[in-house]
Amino acid sequence: MANGKTRKPNWRCIKRHRNYTVDDVARKLGVAKGTVRRWINTGLPAIDDIRPTLILGADLIEFHKRRAKPKHKSNRDQCYCFKCHVPRIPAWNIVDYIPITLTGGNLCGLCPVCCTLIYRRIALANLPVLEGIFEVTILQAEEHLMDSARPCPNDTFEKEP
Ligand SMILES: [Zn+2]
Repeated sequence: MANGKTRKPNWRCIKRHRNYTVDDVARKLGVAKGTVRRWINTGLPAIDDIRPTLILGADLIEFHKRRAKPKHKSNRDQCYCFKCHVPRIPAWNIVDYIPITLTGGNLCGLCPVCCTLIYRRIALANLPVLEGIFEVTILQAEEHLMDSARPCPNDTFEKEP
């Protein structure tokens, strides 16, 4: 986590009142286009019902500010609340672990102040440490997959002999 050593995107060249395509943002900030798309997937607002996808400068700046804030990195026992804009200790110290990849996932708890869901991305390897702090319920990734792939109950019903 050496700060300042990595090439930092120059956020100052983003103008609040301009629109940018994914290409523009990538070029201006010197990041990969994939990175910009990932930002869109993780909450950067974008106008994607037109081609090319447009991002408002103001949204981009807001998104950056929001992401930049928890840099005084949240402690192990905290998840970031996007509503309160501060790291919070999940209510009752109860969290769910939702696997996303084979090696990591999200801790999900409840903000004790505003009651929104708060998340924290963690590596699966760190789960044992967190289980010492929280009461962790591990959700199965397959459950989610099966849910989305499962046919409508009516279909199953019709296939019955
Ligand atoms: Zn909150």
